[in-house]
Amino acid sequence: MQNSPETVKCLIIGSGPAGYTAAVYAARANLDPILYTGKEPGGQLMITTDVENYPGYPDGIMGPQMMEDFRKQAERFGTDVRYELISKVELNGSLHKVWTEGGHEIHAHSVIISTGASAKWLGLESEKRLANKGVSACAVCDGFFFRGQEVAIVGGGDTAAEESLYLSKLCPKVHMLVRRDEMRASKIMQERVMNTENIIVHWNTETQEILGEEQVTGVRVINNQTQAVSEIPVKGFFVAIGHKPNTDLFKGFLDMDETGYILTQGKTSKTNVEGVFASGDAQDNVYRQAVTAAGTGCMAALDAERYLTEKGIV
Ligand code: NDP
Repeated sequence: MQNSPETVKCLIIGSGPAGYTAAVYAARANLDPILYTGKEPGGQLMITTDVENYPGYPDGIMGPQMMEDFRKQAERFGTDVRYELISKVELNGSLHKVWTEGGHEIHAHSVIISTGASAKWLGLESEKRLANKGVSACAVCDGFFFRGQEVAIVGGGDTAAEESLYLSKLCPKVHMLVRRDEMRASKIMQERVMNTENIIVHWNTETQEILGEEQVTGVRVINNQTQAVSEIPVKGFFVAIGHKPNTDLFKGFLDMDETGYILTQGKTSKTNVEGVFASGDAQDNVYRQAVTAAGTGCMAALDAERYLTEKGIV
């Protein structure tokens, strides 16, 4: 298998709502899609608890359950789902070349990129040193380890709000560090945070250093209005300050903005390279919702189908 390239009509890279929706549409259009899941099958929804804003689920649904349903739906129509990482691409010519981490070479007539985005970090030395020793970017994954202990979480967006609420059910006190005097999070999430007794919001507060040698013991913060420095004793430190698109692999081939979001043309999923389409958070720095990601996955599959038809491949 390693030596002979495999030729496919439609290759999908990524397994969040965008990738799986593209797969459902591509499979139903007889494009025989192959989908590579990447390192984190299911994407960001695997580290989310309740999804309450995806239409069709009046009682909400757990993120991992939702992604399992997406995968099953894609497989039902014949998508070949492979649990491996794509590590190299050459996106040019009429047949795009793609390699898996294991060295398998694929020649794809069309490629749909749905590689999503990953958590951002503050960039402190102490954050790296104490990673997995009390520092985490996923409260839902790691909150359990800090039950009964005080924790801090950085960020003022919906992720930080959602994760602080999650942590408030496990921990006696959750210190939410917000760098401005207001939150970016939606009103409903802010209200929930403010109505939760054991979440203490520290406004205008920035992290100077995470304290501890072998394990997190606290955090040193500065109030950017008064310049007052203080220490909060915590055992867990969660970072929830947004995401970076997972598009490094495509640099040099695809046009991107300065952050790395792939640029698409007009109201389509078309990139600057013929036969390559982008969907989901890899190309969306504005909406970034499961439902919008799924919508753009659908668009990418329809664009790919039209492209393959025009080229006489299907
Ligand atoms: P956002 O970009 O919305 O928010 C990032 C937050 O982190 C902001 O408060 C920002 O502050 C703060 N921040 C950024 N950098 C730093 C830093 N270096 N130090 C301190 N604070 C920092 O990201 P989210 O991940 O929260 O949300 C992304 C998208 O996903 C949004 O559209 C959101 O609505 C959506 N989402 C929806 C959910 C739901 O509906 N259930 C759940 C989670 C996310 P500042 O405001 O000052 O820039």
